[in-house]
Amino acid sequence: MEKFDAIVVGAGPAGLSAAITMADKGLKVIVIERGDYPGAKNVMGGILYSEPTAQIFPEFWKEAPLERPITEESYWFLTGDSVTKFGHRNQRFAEEPYNAFSVFRAHFDKWMGEKLKAKGGLLICETVVEDVIEKDGKVIGVKCGRANGDIYADVVIVAEGVNSMLTQKALKMQKMNMKEDYLAVAVKEVIYLDEEKIEDRFALEKGFGATIEVIGDSTKGMVGTGFIYTNKESISIGTGALMSQLIKSKMSPNDLLESFKNNPMVKPLIRGGETKEYAGHMIPEGGYNAMPKLYGNGVLVAGDAAQMVNGLHREGSNMAMISGKIAGETVIAAASKGNFSEETLSSYQKKLEDTFIIKDLKKYKKSSEYFDHNPELFALYPELVSDAMYTFFNVDGTSKKDVQKKMMKDAFKKRPVMSMAKDVYNFWRVLV
Ligand SMILES: Cc1cc2nc3c(=O)[nH]c(=O)nc-3n(C[C@H](O)[C@H](O)[C@H](O)COP(=O)(O)OP(=O)(O)OC[C@H]3O[C@@H](n4cnc5c(N)ncnc54)[C@H](O)[C@@H]3O)c2cc1C
Repeated sequence: MEKFDAIVVGAGPAGLSAAITMADKGLKVIVIERGDYPGAKNVMGGILYSEPTAQIFPEFWKEAPLERPITEESYWFLTGDSVTKFGHRNQRFAEEPYNAFSVFRAHFDKWMGEKLKAKGGLLICETVVEDVIEKDGKVIGVKCGRANGDIYADVVIVAEGVNSMLTQKALKMQKMNMKEDYLAVAVKEVIYLDEEKIEDRFALEKGFGATIEVIGDSTKGMVGTGFIYTNKESISIGTGALMSQLIKSKMSPNDLLESFKNNPMVKPLIRGGETKEYAGHMIPEGGYNAMPKLYGNGVLVAGDAAQMVNGLHREGSNMAMISGKIAGETVIAAASKGNFSEETLSSYQKKLEDTFIIKDLKKYKKSSEYFDHNPELFALYPELVSDAMYTFFNVDGTSKKDVQKKMMKDAFKKRPVMSMAKDVYNFWRVLV
């Protein structure tokens, strides 16, 4: 029976970062992935952040398959017939080490898989891990859905993504702390367009890219966001909302996306493009409140499987990579002691407490619930901002003093001043 130092379940950013970290230090590592290749089953908007990626792959931008370095990031408040924009472009983002890149996970994850193989790690695809194998209360391996599919190791890192069935089994949880407002459903299309057309439409320097996060009509006022990202020769456009809100609205994510694409502010950006890919996926939004324990006897959990997503800041891949890296380092330390007990592996959770991952998830721990119970922030405010901006920019002979009065009167008609003050206070409390 062949035994490994570590088994990693899932070849996403969390799993591959963990595996590469361990293989780099000479551990005998196997990654098991259910897709045909890493990235085949993965969906992301997708913006990849440079600093965390470079912690695992220094100067990755010199060889990794990337689309565009992002130099401009914007937020749009969208209504059916208007948009109010807020954004930032910076030339510093156009220089090494860059801030973020648009990527296709099917290309990027595959590249990470090759990096793992180059370091001597084993990658087995088209194989589903069905269960963990335990002995005397310790995880000692996994059961795969193929002949002779039992594989053994000192430790198992579960990096299976949002559908965390194995996590529950490995940590002996009755069930995940999961509610409908802890999950979002998102859909995305990749629309092909000429490189030059993209640069013209988004006013970009050659080769550089932009992101737009869209609040309001992109989700028909539901709690969630739409997004538009530029790739080399295509645009990724998508939208997603909390499952609780989608269920209430009885709208399908596909209806949302079609409506978003047909919004008059969005349509000109994708006009003449050809849809080449369509994908849907869930996003864990429960954050800190939904996080399981991150370690057990012989087992660690990383990335989406452990609910590590900061939806407000569009961060998930970075949390997956850094948690994977720290999980890998924890295993290296445990291997040097020859001890993979729950107590030894608990240092993983302690290390994570000191990173941006747990700090950020703690900071926003009330956000999903708050937004779910106050959806008007996503429905009413984009309208309110749009009306105010319309009045501000509309030149119709009204004196500026009267324009300002009208802006206030219209706003308070839609949301009384006390409610607005409460919104600001609560918003601040949840986010700061
Ligand atoms: C629409 C959308 C847009 C997003 N946009 C962004 C963005 O722009 N930037 C960002 O940073 N994050 C974004 N995210 C979040 C980001 O994609 C995730 O946080 C990240 O992919 C998590 O990585 P992971 O390795 O934990 O899980 P995953 O990437 O989901 O990888 C898990 C892997 O495990 C495999 N697997 C699962 N179960 C098994 C099993 N039983 N046996 C074998 N293999 C298994 C899967 O096939 C998969 O390859 C987005 C997510 C979505 C859905």
